[in-house]
Amino acid sequence: MSQSEFEVTNPATGDVIAHVPDQGRADARQAIERANAAFASWSTTTAYQRAAILRRAWQLMQERKQDLANLMTREQGKPLKTAAIEVQYGADFLLWFSEEAKRQYGETIPSARADQRFIVQHHPVGVVAAITPWNYPVSMITRKIAPALAAGCTVVLKPAEATPLCAVEIFKIMQEAGMPDGVLNLITASNPVPIGEEFCTNPLVRKITFTGSTAVGRKLSADAAPHLKRVSMELGGHAPFIVFADADPVHAAKGAALIKFLNTGQACICPNRIYVHRSIEKAFLKTFTERVERLAVGNGLDDGINIGPLVNRAAVEKVSRQVEDARSKGAEVLCGGGELEGKGRGGHFYLPTVLSNVSPDMIIYREETFGPVAAVVPFDDNDDIVSMANDTNYGLAAYVYTRDLSTAMRTFEQLQFGIVGINDINPTSAAAPFGGMKDSGLGREGAREGLNEYLETKLGGFSI
Ligand code: ADP
Repeated sequence: MSQSEFEVTNPATGDVIAHVPDQGRADARQAIERANAAFASWSTTTAYQRAAILRRAWQLMQERKQDLANLMTREQGKPLKTAAIEVQYGADFLLWFSEEAKRQYGETIPSARADQRFIVQHHPVGVVAAITPWNYPVSMITRKIAPALAAGCTVVLKPAEATPLCAVEIFKIMQEAGMPDGVLNLITASNPVPIGEEFCTNPLVRKITFTGSTAVGRKLSADAAPHLKRVSMELGGHAPFIVFADADPVHAAKGAALIKFLNTGQACICPNRIYVHRSIEKAFLKTFTERVERLAVGNGLDDGINIGPLVNRAAVEKVSRQVEDARSKGAEVLCGGGELEGKGRGGHFYLPTVLSNVSPDMIIYREETFGPVAAVVPFDDNDDIVSMANDTNYGLAAYVYTRDLSTAMRTFEQLQFGIVGINDINPTSAAAPFGGMKDSGLGREGAREGLNEYLETKLGGFSI
């Protein structure tokens, strides 16, 4: 086992807050072997036994909500209140899949032969290797491990190098809840590359589940393909937010201000292009800009903070580049437009920014922002707007504001996105399937579909 460690820093201050083991490929291999050894017994426990452990973990996570939220704010940066909401959301997956574990129903299928019976059962796929990102350091983990464990799989998890501490705490909770040794295994590493290579090539791993950037997801899928491993991929997004002429511009602006700046804009479902019909653009921008100007930026541990830091310096530079490019091509900066001065020193802060008059020739129109910059694009023609919204390789989330039922239904059906919020900015829940089309990924998390990702179908043909 390697003995070295790496630092975990607070993105609001730059302070080192902890050290965790810096593991390598040999550690990953051993963890996979442990998970494989534990599979025989874990996969044959009853669904009721697995459900009981997950339910205890749900209870423990709720009891530790404040401590976990505090840790999350220190390692990831989001304001304390939002961190507590995420812990609750993360815990929801433990409860949902503790219930869903008991519903792995099979079926019997009539045969054309009188002497034959078909029976279909679902079995756990085997050892699962999971890789998670830093933006939601609790819920992105429970969303994978809860269904995998409920299905009867064993797991090796590698959390993001920026946020391993929440993972360590989740693992303590799972252990206290009664998870047997070897069923759930943690690998912390400053360099994800060799770990990903081991996950994708080790024959004992039957399934790779990943949340992160499209570029890395593509690489992992390619590496896993020759070994015919199953993959689930939750990748980037470039969400359109469409406000039709008949919508209430104030209501839509309030919704847009909440969802755009969620997690400092660092969520794959954050709107990246806000299309507003020109007839209501002025009213929309007035409320929207007022709301955004009110957002308080700072250390998420302080009272009243709405916007925390970005994850690192590179994220600040990416956002600055997008804003400067848009400004140079004619976008108007209605608020923000730069880094936080003074009290932001040491942290990676960018002011919440509204850009109006954004057009398709700007980088921000095409590239995922992952930061606190809202790009507002006026439009005139309802007939063109869906094709403009679909004109991206991404297909994760989309939002539509309208009071017309036909427009709502038609747009919902035409948008090539896996998740569509209709007059609603929060179409996510442990009970609902989350996932994208096109370059936004493969598979779904949450809901019944989330469990299916970890199950094999087995057919029995019985001659009687
Ligand atoms: P982001 O750009 O949002 O940080 P990444 O896709 O780089 O997203 O990171 C998401 C997760 O993928 C993290 O856990 C990171 O360590 C991991 N990761 C990044 N590159 C690789 C790789 N080449 N192989 C395996 N995992 C990787």
